[in-house]
Amino acid sequence: MHQDIEEILLSEEQLQEKIADLGKQITRDYAGDHLLLLGTLKGAVPFIADLARAIELPLELDYMAVASYGNSTQSSGIVRIIKDLEGPIDQKHVLIIEDIIDSGLTLHYLIDLLKRRNPLSLKVCSLLNKERLRIKDVPIDYYGFTIPDKFVVGYGLDYAQLYRNLPYIGILKPSVYSEEATPEKTHKSMAEQK
Ligand code: 5GP
Ligand code: MG
Ligand code: MG
Repeated sequence: MHQDIEEILLSEEQLQEKIADLGKQITRDYAGDHLLLLGTLKGAVPFIADLARAIELPLELDYMAVASYGNSTQSSGIVRIIKDLEGPIDQKHVLIIEDIIDSGLTLHYLIDLLKRRNPLSLKVCSLLNKERLRIKDVPIDYYGFTIPDKFVVGYGLDYAQLYRNLPYIGILKPSVYSEEATPEKTHKSMAEQK
């Protein structure tokens, strides 16, 4: 385990088992249709990569990058598009793939925006669903796990852009937040990872 991780919340095995189930469910629900998986950069990348391979349908992949202003552990609801989709979605069944739904602000904004492009259908699949009061109520059609209201990293999720490459979801040690993390310090701790 990485030295900055306090506890592994979801192991690699638990994640992969759940993703296989989600893939089967989505395959059944969209039987006979073409599907566009819309991944949100960067956090959902490991999830969409594994989920896409667990779905047995004609499948397209596209990505959107949105940035939510705020500090590193809280989003603000003011969202900016960094990268848009490559093409129109008006003839497509779109499934948004998210890493985590926390306040709901980012997803609420995204759904609003995409609805105006008239997709054939629009649904949401999030790996993680945080157990807390949403600021914006958003529909989550598929999700992997409900997790407690703690800041997690790994499997795509970052703190200060690090830890995305961990194969599991873990809770960061509080000392990582409280120390003013300098890049030197953080990179050193990544290098020491075994
Ligand atoms: P929301 O807008 O729902 O509050 O947050 C959505 C985004 O905030 C997520 O896509 C993710 O980038 C970030 N986020 C929310 N909770 C967590 C968390 O526990 N860990 C990490 N690493 N990012 C989070
Ligand atoms: Mg996200
Ligand atoms: Mg982040």
